[in-house]
Amino acid sequence: MHEMSICRSMLGIVLARAKQHQVGRVLEVRIEVGALRGIVPEHLEHYFQFLRKGTVAEDATLVVDTVPGEAQCQQCRCRFVLDERGYVCPDCGGSDVEVVAGLELRVKTMRVE
Ligand SMILES: [Zn+2]
Repeated sequence: MHEMSICRSMLGIVLARAKQHQVGRVLEVRIEVGALRGIVPEHLEHYFQFLRKGTVAEDATLVVDTVPGEAQCQQCRCRFVLDERGYVCPDCGGSDVEVVAGLELRVKTMRVE
């Protein structure tokens, strides 16, 4: 149900923007989701199709851009992609790392008519 509430708030943002700009129809919604959020894009699409009914975004396509998780080592300042190796610096082996990307969650662009 995680994705359902995310989808609802994303759609809320889209509809508020559409209203603000007096948009008749939303054609495409592009959202940015960080890989570390643990969100399944297919679930987002599923809920989007359900929630958009009866709104100006009824025919809109949802495009999900996944941002890879990245961290920066606090010891050697090296920046690396977070994968199954976990939160350990590949350069110095340090575990004092800070997440710098991969927690995004936002409506990036929308294409309207
Ligand atoms: Zn390091």
